[in-house]
Amino acid sequence: MELLEKTAAEQHKALINKEISALELVEASINRIEKLDNTLGTFNSFTFDEARNTAKKVDEKIAKGETIPKLAGIPLALKDNMNMTGTKTTCSSKILENFVSPYDATIVTKLKENLVPIIGKTNLDEFAMGSSNENSAFRPVKNPYNLSKVPGGSSGGSAAAVSASLSTLSLGSDTGGSIRLPASFCGIVGFKPTYGRVSRYGLVAFASSLDQIGPFTKSIEDCASLYETIAGYDEKDSTSLKLEVGNISDNLSKDIKGLKVGVISDLMGDGTADCIKASIQNSIETFKKLGAEIKEINLPLVKHSIGVYYIVATAEASSNLARFDGVRYGFRAQNCQNLLEMYTKTRAQGFGDEVKRRIMLGTYALSSGYYDAYYKKAQQLRRLIANDLNEAFKQVDILIAPTCPTTAFDLNSKANDPLQMYLTDIATIPSNLAGVPALSMPIGFDKDNMPIGLQIIAKQLDEKTLLNSAFALEQELGIYTKRPNI
Ligand code: GLN
Repeated sequence: MELLEKTAAEQHKALINKEISALELVEASINRIEKLDNTLGTFNSFTFDEARNTAKKVDEKIAKGETIPKLAGIPLALKDNMNMTGTKTTCSSKILENFVSPYDATIVTKLKENLVPIIGKTNLDEFAMGSSNENSAFRPVKNPYNLSKVPGGSSGGSAAAVSASLSTLSLGSDTGGSIRLPASFCGIVGFKPTYGRVSRYGLVAFASSLDQIGPFTKSIEDCASLYETIAGYDEKDSTSLKLEVGNISDNLSKDIKGLKVGVISDLMGDGTADCIKASIQNSIETFKKLGAEIKEINLPLVKHSIGVYYIVATAEASSNLARFDGVRYGFRAQNCQNLLEMYTKTRAQGFGDEVKRRIMLGTYALSSGYYDAYYKKAQQLRRLIANDLNEAFKQVDILIAPTCPTTAFDLNSKANDPLQMYLTDIATIPSNLAGVPALSMPIGFDKDNMPIGLQIIAKQLDEKTLLNSAFALEQELGIYTKRPNI
């Protein structure tokens, strides 16, 4: 297998055995980006020199015989809604097209401390709103398995970058599924940790009570390593949890005897494609073979998740995006007669259709006449959905479900139908509403060779059981070494 197609753990071995240098690895990644980025639409901007300088530091350490952190020298791409000093942070929006970050997000600080070379900022749905990456103000991202299909959104650039081996690692943000959905469509691992595990300081806020940063990788071991690198308490984020992260990556094991696995039957019904049901059945059999017990779990309120999410998320977004008014950040409309005109023209010209739709929906749901009927109701239902999930975890250790009812769909097939687009999030949203950790991992392919993702959900803070179960399944299935032909 080509060097770039290997996992971070394998590349780490090659680095410390001096089979390659970190600079060679970064240059290889840059070459592949230069070859494929135009085809895939993955990146908004590059930070190649930054990556080269980091790689040189890693090589110096190796030359001196010093030990290096696990992910030192391994190329990583950052979703373009995360701040990194001196780089543009555009959120794939015209309104921030020329905004330059004055500071580092906490995750960036941690990556720098661990000498992880950051090679660029990846394309996304504008302000992370979308499921297909077609809402970028710049260009859509394409799926590395089939260029006429979407990569999933909103972190489509980060997912496609890892899937096509432009970078070995990347980070995304997940508000309603934006890490797990593209991971599923692009055949890689995508993980949303427990709400509060990873600092959101420096992430441009979409819906603050739901947003969480997490890894995209090719293997569960890499996922655990990247999670450990970015997680932990941060005084700059008031929702950050003051708890030990622990070492999961060194203790992964295939021994899951007695693990209780709940299958969410409500997400395995008629709307779910047959090939996905069959693949999940195969994973269930694999879990059984490894000694796990399987149980069916009913979560009847899950069907309301989309309705709840599109009230709560849009309400929070309408408030968070109020700051983009032409005064402080990025773009400002020209030739305005007064302040109000400047505000309205800036927002009218700067935001795309989907962002405007959400701001209007959220403002409506929060308005005094409708607050009780919509926002308050949605919050009450959110609590009930979370309670149902927490109750389920009294019976089982993990829950499994499809990540999405279908595999990747064709570009332009849903772009003009927002409701159809929203429905793709049915399986991913409940974990955001409840703040629990959830991941998507590849478990098979459909007849057109498009990847199928399995979602695994665990109770709050139980990243260890989640990642260990996923590791056991991954090792037994053995398909995580598959890469797209691009
Ligand atoms: N697809 C969902 C939305 O459009 C989720 C987005 C996300 O997780 N950032 O809001």
